[in-house]
Amino acid sequence: MTPGDTITVCGGGNGAHALVGTLLLRDETTHIRLYLPLEDERRRFANALSSHSSFEVRVAGEAYSVASDRIRVTGDPEEAVLSPIMIMVVPAFAHGAILSQLAPYLTKENTIAALPARSGLEYQAWDILGKVGQNGCVLVGFQTLPWACRIKEFGRSVIIHGTKNRVGAACLPKKEIEEKAKVFSTLLGMDVIPYRSMLELSLANTGQLIHPGIMYSVFRNRRTEIFPSEDEVPLFYASVDDEAAEFLSRMSDEVLTIKDTVEQERPGFKMPSVVHLSQWLLEAYGDGIKGTANLARMFQTNQGYQTLSVPVKKVDSGYQVNVKVRYLTEDLPFGLLVTKGIASAVGVETPTIDEVITNTSAWIGREYLVNGRLVGRDVIITRAPQRYGIDSLEGLVR
Ligand code: NAD
Repeated sequence: MTPGDTITVCGGGNGAHALVGTLLLRDETTHIRLYLPLEDERRRFANALSSHSSFEVRVAGEAYSVASDRIRVTGDPEEAVLSPIMIMVVPAFAHGAILSQLAPYLTKENTIAALPARSGLEYQAWDILGKVGQNGCVLVGFQTLPWACRIKEFGRSVIIHGTKNRVGAACLPKKEIEEKAKVFSTLLGMDVIPYRSMLELSLANTGQLIHPGIMYSVFRNRRTEIFPSEDEVPLFYASVDDEAAEFLSRMSDEVLTIKDTVEQERPGFKMPSVVHLSQWLLEAYGDGIKGTANLARMFQTNQGYQTLSVPVKKVDSGYQVNVKVRYLTEDLPFGLLVTKGIASAVGVETPTIDEVITNTSAWIGREYLVNGRLVGRDVIITRAPQRYGIDSLEGLVR
């Protein structure tokens, strides 16, 4: 990456707006190719750009402006791959479509990143791109989106509510990670922590535990409750009580058992970023957590969690928990199901994770597990390794 290079951003949602703004603000010579395969969205973005000369980023109470003629919208995959670095900032369900569109044109000159990757990206990318990590392009997966952000005005401005200090990333081929971490640290303006493998990235995905885990352990008996006003909608993370924390802790322990099993079977294969939820919370939020006595207190006193309510839908007499949200529609098929698949491939039982998957998938009309086995009709839409014919430790590591 040299000054003046053009970067391709794939996506036009909240995260893509934040990424476009961040990249342009960080280096005044950077230009963006914005790859938007969805025709309507492409037209809307192009219209917004043609009617305004600036793109605004609001962060930490300040508004910054960049010239919007540094953004060029395209729907042509052949043009999208002209940038050495391409970053997909879309929900995980869109990775497959974008990778398939770009696949015919990608070469070893391209680095394609997913921000965030969620879990199992490597199996899907291998399936679609074939030679990824060998003679083909380099694949980079990020553990999380570094911002909490919302579009303020489509194609014109974005609000970044919060920025993480650091973000983990893994790479295929593995040997490129140190160099890619440096490149992306500079681009994003934050520490990019190199992970040793994509398997580590998949298992270190904490959203897969926290989101479905809280939906199930805290809200399973409150799904039909009506909250008369918005003010009465309960907080999401901060509603974790002792019982729910104990449940989340068990889910996390099951992931640690998978990690330990892999590390024992493959001496030298280490996944240091796969840690217990409580350790992850302390590392990710640090001083933002006021009470560290136990996991429940950490959720209840994390300052970053104090305004985030459980997702709801409007009903006649008020609001009701909405289960058809990314906490389940994304974190199950592109998170917990991948972990379940990895567990199954290495022979680890995951009764708590199974309980969450079985129950919450039924809420959203999906069938992933049957009697604890990955044979449900909807496994085909997940990134569980078995869906790609991988069902052994050897296959996972390869
Ligand atoms: P979003 O809903 O705003 O993004 C949707 C965008 O994805 C669309 O605008 C479109 O550009 C693209 N897209 C959807 N379907 C597509 C398809 N079939 N083909 C091509 N493109 C398609 O989502 P977001 O808020 O930008 O979040 C992106 C990811 O980051 C998600 O995984 C989300 O869970 C995660 N995340 C977001 C936030 C946040 O604050 N926004 C915070 C943490 C994590």
